[in-house]
Amino acid sequence: MILIRLIVGPLQVNCFILADEKTREAIVIDPGEDAEDVLRIIREKGLKIKYIVNTHGHFDHIGANKAIKDATGAELLIHEEDAPVLATASRQSTAFGLNPVSSPRADRFVKHGDVITAGEVSLTVLHTPGHSPGGISLLEQGMVFTGDALFAGSIGRSDLPGGDLITLLNAIKTNLLTLPDDTRVFPGHGPASTIGDERRDNPFLNQESGFE
Ligand SMILES: [Zn+2]
Ligand SMILES: [Zn+2]
Repeated sequence: MILIRLIVGPLQVNCFILADEKTREAIVIDPGEDAEDVLRIIREKGLKIKYIVNTHGHFDHIGANKAIKDATGAELLIHEEDAPVLATASRQSTAFGLNPVSSPRADRFVKHGDVITAGEVSLTVLHTPGHSPGGISLLEQGMVFTGDALFAGSIGRSDLPGGDLITLLNAIKTNLLTLPDDTRVFPGHGPASTIGDERRDNPFLNQESGFE
């Protein structure tokens, strides 16, 4: 499997491209901005993008949805509970003092337990709300893409509209910390980690912070 990470946009979102080496079928996770960079890699590697998946609808994760969809014909997928978040992306970005960004509506909604495939790439949807209502993580063999739910040494904000700290902690505990320790964690921002390192060292998830 091919795994490529690009850091895109002013908020430095991790955009991931996962592809089947043989069939060249591929999935793009969170094309937040810099569509030309993403499309250049797609062209160079000869990839056929089947799906664009947004871990959630915040503006920093969705800005290149349209350009990539238009160029590749890929289907856009998001959790239903983040469809309203996606629809307000331009307001979110101007509230941040940035240029307005927008996205087409999703072609299809995904929910917990759904499997999104492109050749040998197989992503299982884990609902990890609390940063936003329809936040999802995406589980591949030995790795999980956690969006803005779980970061290396931190967790997502829960003070944005639709966010909730208890919901976020419960989702991380139930759907992420139950994964094997050596599962690699690829967050929506910042460096990679592992589930074991986060279980041991993440100050938001240890028992001193009241997390059980
Ligand atoms: Zn976010
Ligand atoms: Zn983000």
